[in-house]
Amino acid sequence: MNAVNHQWRIARRPVGPAREADFRWQEEPIPTPGPGQVLVHNQFISLDPTNRPWLWEEDTYLPALKIGDVVRGVTIGAVEQSNNPNFPVGTNVVGALGWQDYAVSDGRYDFLTPLPADPNVPATMHFGLFGHIGITAYFGLLDVGKPKAGETVVISAASGAVGSLVGQIAKIHGCRVIGIAGSAEKCRWITEDLGFDKAINYKKESVYSHLKEYCPNGIDLFFDNVGGAVLEDVLSLLALRARIVVCGMISLYNTVGGTLSMPPGPNNLFNLVIKRATMEGFLCLDYWERREEAFKALAAWHRDGKIQYRYDVVEGLKNAPRAMNKLFDGSNKGKLILKL
Ligand code: NDP
Repeated sequence: MNAVNHQWRIARRPVGPAREADFRWQEEPIPTPGPGQVLVHNQFISLDPTNRPWLWEEDTYLPALKIGDVVRGVTIGAVEQSNNPNFPVGTNVVGALGWQDYAVSDGRYDFLTPLPADPNVPATMHFGLFGHIGITAYFGLLDVGKPKAGETVVISAASGAVGSLVGQIAKIHGCRVIGIAGSAEKCRWITEDLGFDKAINYKKESVYSHLKEYCPNGIDLFFDNVGGAVLEDVLSLLALRARIVVCGMISLYNTVGGTLSMPPGPNNLFNLVIKRATMEGFLCLDYWERREEAFKALAAWHRDGKIQYRYDVVEGLKNAPRAMNKLFDGSNKGKLILKL
């Protein structure tokens, strides 16, 4: 066991994309678990777009962190010491244990959950298909979006962790799928390897004119990961009774402070009235109790070769702040994970 617990703590609120100077590297003694607590040795950290809103001064769906707190992050690790019969020594766990090597937890406030011990499932899959990402894609599309065979589905950040899964699930359900992504490689991957019908490189092409061409009868379902200008383009091209699933708005996360300082929203929201359309946000946390439903379906599709998935693994806790920005400059190719 290392004698030291390395941690990243919040030094100040970032302005724009988070920089390394916004975080403080700290070394502390490894904590000792108290009554009812366990000591977890983190092995992987999930880097997610939501890491950036978690640095806002404003609360999100979780309370805002304070300056000096350990940076919040979802981790996978192993229980090394245990005073809690629910988590015996050696149990692999997932939880929000933060950007650090070790954490103590009593399992009540950080979503600590034991992972199934299946040697055929690499730990990282519990951040992807069999984790919060799988839950998000599965329930966000099927429960919130309710796609029907033959409908036209558009997805933003379509080659990413969530978007790439959503598109493949929509194809399995008989939809026409158009993905919007930020590079030629990403567009090629989602069409040639994943089977999306069309892709639009929003950094090089007009999203509006391509969507108009590819969706002559309008867009039935938009799974939005990005917000901003792309959402506005889609709003102008909705089909009657369209659904917009608001999964995320990554284009706005680097805003200072939080939602109160975000730029004004789409100017064409009235199209929701004209098209009797709905727009609904959701959180994967709301579906945590139903997670096995998603994992079972995703496992079967994966086993049958109907779903492909890719990971982007960066090594070293020290690289966490820099690695997180891959999500914002678009250089991640698949689910971004930090290996400690
Ligand atoms: P991704 O793997 O999709 O990575 C983020 C991608 O977003 C980047 O690769 C980049 O792709 C794109 N992007 C970044 N900045 C911009 C921008 N300004 N404009 C357009 N695209 C941008 O991340 P995830 O799959 O983990 O997350 C996708 C979305 O889902 C996020 O909004 C996230 O917050 C949300 N989410 C929501 C959950 C929920 O419960 N509601 C749970 C999990 C995720 P490109 O190269 O294509 O630009």
